[in-house]
Amino acid sequence: MKHPKEEQTFVMVKPDGVRKGLTGEIIKRFEQRDLKIVALQMFEPTREQIDEHYPKDEAWIARLGQKTLKTYEKYGFDPKAELGMDNDLEIGKEVRKWLVDYMLSAPLVRMVVQGIHAVDVVRKIAGPTLPFMAEVGTIRGDFSIDSPLLANKEKRAVMNLVHASETPEEAEHEIEHWFGKGAKIYSYKRFGVDE
Ligand code: ATP
Ligand code: MG
Repeated sequence: MKHPKEEQTFVMVKPDGVRKGLTGEIIKRFEQRDLKIVALQMFEPTREQIDEHYPKDEAWIARLGQKTLKTYEKYGFDPKAELGMDNDLEIGKEVRKWLVDYMLSAPLVRMVVQGIHAVDVVRKIAGPTLPFMAEVGTIRGDFSIDSPLLANKEKRAVMNLVHASETPEEAEHEIEHWFGKGAKIYSYKRFGVDE
């Protein structure tokens, strides 16, 4: 019988993950949690693919800027002095550009990960967006210490090793975007998990 929360989610190892040689380590962390890799490939995206991957709505872009503003506020930095801007949407637009450049800076590894509560569990294993805030034991908390304070000063995105879908709907959309309609997703039984 299929588990009510058996899900598929979309994961990408980002350029810093590939360049730090962490592809295997990242896959291992999903597999050791009894999640299954059901599709896997290294590839080079086009600028258009990356641009379409990240949302374009103002609410999402403003949220990117808010992550910068919150960090600046927490540590007593003036965004205007550091970046020349203090509006969340304006900062978000800059961050989105840096993000696209960052995602094109090395090959990526795309995969579909399947299992119980896969969407939430994969996000938990990855850890929260900003590595300096991520708990030890998460991928981002164990292998990165990046922060918007440094990243934005260097006019680049926060490097956080891995992307993972946020909701089952986003996962479905991203699997189709990155593997194509009717892509080959494999099916097999994990010892001790599926039987
Ligand atoms: P992802 O979508 O890559 O899984 P996420 O959902 O944790 O990560 P989002 O809020 O969707 O984070 O932001 C997308 C990506 O943009 C982040 O993973 C990070 O690389 C970058 N990013 C987010 N906020 C900032 C920021 N304030 N400054 C620079 N880069 C940022
Ligand atoms: Mg996201």
